[in-house]
Amino acid sequence: MTSCIFCQISKRELPAKIVFEDNHCLAFEDVHPQAPLHLLVIPKRHIESLNELGSEDEGLLGHLTFIAKELALRHPVGATGYRTVINTGANAGQSVFHVHLHLLAGRPMQWPPG
Ligand code: 5GP
Ligand code: ZN
Repeated sequence: MTSCIFCQISKRELPAKIVFEDNHCLAFEDVHPQAPLHLLVIPKRHIESLNELGSEDEGLLGHLTFIAKELALRHPVGATGYRTVINTGANAGQSVFHVHLHLLAGRPMQWPPG
């Protein structure tokens, strides 16, 4: 899906500050960071949202979460805590329709989120 900005980042057709890559996923800095550390961890395969996940993707989602944990703990601010978020659909504020896990850290965070 060439019109998808995250697919384009994955294929290096759009620039991004990529911090991690393996066969299944990519992690890069959010262009509008909401915390001192704000990364997006995405599957390389285009999946619009959690709603399009199949049972065969359970492992893939676990992998994204595992990589987010690794990246958080590898970063100086990660030890004091971090938040992982996946927005799904309009009410949740999803604006890019390629599954992405936000990793936020480096400041105190409120609950419930806005
Ligand atoms: P959502 O609102 O869909 O959960 O999150 C989309 C995120 O993607 C937002 O935090 C937004 O700042 C980020 N984003 C949108 N376009 C780009 C882009 O072209 N490059 C990067 N690195 N991040 C983007
Ligand atoms: Zn995509």
